[in-house]
Amino acid sequence: MSAKRILIVEDEKPIRDLIAFGLRRAGYEVLEAEDCRAARARLVDQRPDLMLVDWMLPDMSGLELTRALKRDKESEDIPVIMLTARAEEQDKVGGLEGGADDYVTKPFSPRELLARIQAVLRRASPGGGEDVVEIEDLRLDDASHRVSTGEREIPLGPTEYRLLHFFMTHPERVFSRGQLLDRIWGGNTYVEERTVDVHIRRLRKALEPFGREHLVQTVRGSGYRLSTREP
Ligand code: CA
Repeated sequence: MSAKRILIVEDEKPIRDLIAFGLRRAGYEVLEAEDCRAARARLVDQRPDLMLVDWMLPDMSGLELTRALKRDKESEDIPVIMLTARAEEQDKVGGLEGGADDYVTKPFSPRELLARIQAVLRRASPGGGEDVVEIEDLRLDDASHRVSTGEREIPLGPTEYRLLHFFMTHPERVFSRGQLLDRIWGGNTYVEERTVDVHIRRLRKALEPFGREHLVQTVRGSGYRLSTREP
């Protein structure tokens, strides 16, 4: 089970950066494209779980791109949320006919966008089973933000929860402190790398009473990983 991947197709870099920042902080993997051509190239390499498509793009409209994707067997089931400016709102109906799954009107708040993304992803995979990640008998339910082992719930602080969620959705891979800062703290430059060590220690301490602290491993000179194998 891995983090959901979202492709942002938006030519305005500041907006793209802002969206990407919020999504990464929320635990999504983010791909970016500045136009339809780049979007198609990304699609071939790495299939996204959802696409955010700006209406106004330099080479082709986002609506045309969405229509084309929905006609193609390879991409027809990738959910699309369109980003539109207020003036374009009257075109909403046309856009939904073009196959977009939802709309978000600019300017939008990161919270609103996240809520729409989660709703569309839930609709795209009924049952929502992917909200739950299990490694050995450690179970993380992202819908309720609960971590448990067997019947026992493991209390975690918010940062420890995000760390564990990230590790559990990217198991067996080593991440440097810098990468973890980027993914968990959203690349906030005011946070020092040793903050990562502090939260790793807290996470291990929280897992210790349940005998699961060995899962969070230090890789000397590289960083940290979550692994079920012997370090
Ligand atoms: Ca645009």
